[in-house]
Amino acid sequence: MPENPSEPLVQIRTPKRGAARPASALEPGRARVYVETHGCQMNVADSDLLIGILAGAGYARVDRPEDADVIVVNTCAVREKAETKVLTRAHELAAIGRRHPGQVLSIVGCMAEHLKEGLALAAPVDVIAGPDSYRRLPELLATARARKHDGDRAAVVDVQLDKAETYEGLSGAEGGDGVSGFVTIQRGCDKFCTFCVVPFTRGRERGVPPREVLRQVRELAEHGYKEVVLLGQTVNSYAWEEVGFAELLRAVARIDGIERVRFTSPYPVDFTDEVVAAIADEPRICAYVHLPLQSGSDAVLARMRRGYDVAGYVAIVERLRRAMPDVALSTDILSGFSGETEDDHAATLALMRQLRFDSAFMFAYSERDLTFAAKKLPDDVTQAVKKRRLAEIIAVQERVSVEVYAAQVGKRERVLVHGPSKRDPAEMMGRTDGFKTVILPRGVGAPGELVDVRITRATMATLFGEPI
Ligand code: SF4
Repeated sequence: MPENPSEPLVQIRTPKRGAARPASALEPGRARVYVETHGCQMNVADSDLLIGILAGAGYARVDRPEDADVIVVNTCAVREKAETKVLTRAHELAAIGRRHPGQVLSIVGCMAEHLKEGLALAAPVDVIAGPDSYRRLPELLATARARKHDGDRAAVVDVQLDKAETYEGLSGAEGGDGVSGFVTIQRGCDKFCTFCVVPFTRGRERGVPPREVLRQVRELAEHGYKEVVLLGQTVNSYAWEEVGFAELLRAVARIDGIERVRFTSPYPVDFTDEVVAAIADEPRICAYVHLPLQSGSDAVLARMRRGYDVAGYVAIVERLRRAMPDVALSTDILSGFSGETEDDHAATLALMRQLRFDSAFMFAYSERDLTFAAKKLPDDVTQAVKKRRLAEIIAVQERVSVEVYAAQVGKRERVLVHGPSKRDPAEMMGRTDGFKTVILPRGVGAPGELVDVRITRATMATLFGEPI
């Protein structure tokens, strides 16, 4: 953290995401960095931020690890599987490094914070940096490059959490895709759900001052962005002195040039009437809410210490649907938590059928050390049972999603075009206000354009539209 929190904005000169320059186009002598991101949107936002920090320190961005002097892997620790994947990837990247002597491999983010020095025992890594250490990344990389040059193989480690660090004065505008940009309004989490490692990897909750949030949103608008996604671990718990999340949302929605405002992830019990009213009143705030449920059983929710029971959660959904009958809802479901019985699992399936989420992120529980659950609650549902329950949860959601998406056919939607579709780059991909992916025919729409379409066809997760 700098002594002066209003440090001037770092000048960013990196190309946009997906448009990194080839190595041959680089100025001689300029160090080249390849950045790879794993995990949530917060990590995507952090990668945009650290690309800006490194650009300010003279690094040029490349899009192939083979062309890089420095590789940065931004990681997730929320599930064991995510960490295993990063370790495998680190060995692949280190193999590239062996063909490029002097190349530095850094692992940053939640996994670096979680495993600390121990990460160096599991992967051939040169820099280990936590999510509050990004301002110091240029110096950490310089030290690692000098050590490598001297034949010293010891990793450089900086995993100090800083409860004041909000990366004020920086920006991810030029690291993003030019259409939809992220602004982190809150870092860390104080909720300590018993299964979750985030409070240990991202530290205590702190809000970004409103003037700084608005500055970053204006900067995105000046760079041509049409959508802003406000990020926080429990984004609607945001508070800065007298300013709450509802006031901040309304202020962001009134910034010229920004057509759509989204936010993720809210904490269910912090959904106040003021926040619901702001979403319903302000036309630029999307009628889409990701509302993590986790379980449909009161006993499991209590063991998770989620702070609500089923009736409380249903009441929040009803309030949202009363204010906005067309609101799109997505959720998270965690299957096989400690002590989950067949009845608990059946209650989750029943609640999913009752609430009919548009979509869901569904996972089997994996124990994370440091958490209360790892210390005090037995991981007593077998892998086979977790797998079977997860498959049943996915099957229920797929049936609901098929029906929800099919019901969109014939409707009129305004679609923000994000870019070429993955399947056919001649077609464009955009999103509705309710965050549903829409594929547009060849020749229709350009990135950043809002197009009015009629939905003609639907699959379980994609809509197809024709311009009106
Ligand atoms: S609210 Fe709970 S699940 Fe969400 S980040 Fe905080 S501790 Fe983790």
